[in-house]
Amino acid sequence: MAAMRRLAVYCGSRSGHSPAFASAARALGLALADQGVGLVYGAARIGLMGVVADAVLKQGGEVIGVIPECLMRDDVVHRSLSGLEVVETMHQRKARMLELADGMVALPGGFGTLEELFEALSWLQMRLHDQPCGLLNVDGFFDPLLRFLDASVEQGFLMPEHRDLLRQNTDADDLVRELLEQV
Ligand code: AMP
Repeated sequence: MAAMRRLAVYCGSRSGHSPAFASAARALGLALADQGVGLVYGAARIGLMGVVADAVLKQGGEVIGVIPECLMRDDVVHRSLSGLEVVETMHQRKARMLELADGMVALPGGFGTLEELFEALSWLQMRLHDQPCGLLNVDGFFDPLLRFLDASVEQGFLMPEHRDLLRQNTDADDLVRELLEQV
């Protein structure tokens, strides 16, 4: 039997001001569970991270959390996951998340989310892995970032074919389907 497909989700440890962000995190969790795709994420119960994990768990889906020792606190860690892996460092966490997953999705978030997304993208650009990367673009949250990437192409810092490595969709189901087609 083929191994279960999993997507890593990077997203805010906060929920943002608009309720649309938590709705999108729930929709992504439902899309993963409906399509039989496991979730790999940072194991927190806070912010959008907790929302996406709870949505998958509620549908009976698989959720594996990977967390570094420094974040193993009761106010952060989600204690009801299908699997919890504790690693020593943030570097090990990102490497392990990529190892467990077949592709990755970013939801709205802050520095942590952007850092994880861009590490995955720059490593994809260097062919250090071949896992598809996508954004769930909730309410145009990522539009300024996408414009910046287009400007980086125009200014000669980013190859158009590397820019196109980042997929985006406003619909969670379609995004998950699109990424799975690339796996
Ligand atoms: P941010 O976008 O800055 O809120 O960071 C969220 C992302 O970075 C998540 O995908 C996590 O993997 C990681 N991260 C940052 N802060 C935390 C935290 N307090 N608890 C768990 N993970 C975190």
